[in-house]
Amino acid sequence: MAQSISNLSCHSFCTVLLENLNQGVYFVDSKNKIIYWNAKAEKITGYKSEEVLGKSCSDNVLVHINDEGKICCGNPEYCPVAKVAISRKPYENDLYIKHKEGYRILVHIKTIPVFDENQNMVGVAEIFYDNSEMDDLKLKIQELEKLALIDSLTKIANRRYIELQLRSRLNEFKRFGWQFGLLFIDIDHFKQINDKYGHDTGDRVLKMVAQVLIRNSRSFDLAGRWGGEEFIVIAPNVNDTQLYTIAHKFKNLIALSNLRVNSEIINVTVSVGATLVKANDTLKSIIKRADKLMYHSKQNGRNKVTTDFEIS
Ligand code: GH3
Ligand code: MG
Ligand code: MG
Repeated sequence: MAQSISNLSCHSFCTVLLENLNQGVYFVDSKNKIIYWNAKAEKITGYKSEEVLGKSCSDNVLVHINDEGKICCGNPEYCPVAKVAISRKPYENDLYIKHKEGYRILVHIKTIPVFDENQNMVGVAEIFYDNSEMDDLKLKIQELEKLALIDSLTKIANRRYIELQLRSRLNEFKRFGWQFGLLFIDIDHFKQINDKYGHDTGDRVLKMVAQVLIRNSRSFDLAGRWGGEEFIVIAPNVNDTQLYTIAHKFKNLIALSNLRVNSEIINVTVSVGATLVKANDTLKSIIKRADKLMYHSKQNGRNKVTTDFEIS
């Protein structure tokens, strides 16, 4: 085996290896330009290598953000490439990158300095993999599609499925006292997106928001489309602080996602209402309460989360 590898040129061996890895890999040179992008990087991000080669990550390509919603590009405190350029040591962390369709996905990233034979740093390699359980999710979607529980546009749970799940959560709460939280999420000024860019682009924005919600939910949360530009997330086993954190995470990730349509970049924000289940709640009462809280977020300037509990 060692013999056959040594007969291969190092370049072709590395290329075969990199193109078949189950992790995304790219290299940036000393000027921060992307000079290599493997097949799995194309699959995870939706960007073909010809679309990113020669660009830098901050050219609206991946635009890494951390879990506080801070943009990492250009900030040596947060940007993994800048960190490694200074420390000259590998660095690992979890960050959100941007898919070509605009939505944010959580990836685990290992960033490694690359040296030449004289120990001069010539660039940085980034290896990343998708943390979400997408294969399980795809199977689940296929099953639910058969049962007409999936929204045909966004491919996430539809109103009927949300209602079924909410009834189950309410029953569990009554029988066993298992807490859960509910988020009502409404896209801000969505009509203007349709009016300005057309209905098809509006549809792409709805799909982008849906992807942010399902790809960044815990496996036991349910994110669905309630109707129009309204979404609901049901989050089991959360207290007030955790629900508040989840609501802010979604609000920030949506605001930091964007779609490129021709030469324009389209962003949307959402207004969120967040509430925990209460004694005597019904399907109607909990949704109505979350909807009212969402409406407060609208009245207070949009791109906000409103809760009916105090966070210390
Ligand atoms: P606000 O910030 O107050 O929520 O304003 P808004 O414009 O988001 O709210 P409004 O209720 O006035 O408009 C919602 C729009 O959503 C109107 C409707 O045409 C559009 N819409 C509903 N369903 C779809 C859909 O499936 N695709 C597209 N493209 N648009 C949709
Ligand atoms: Mg609405
Ligand atoms: Mg709206």
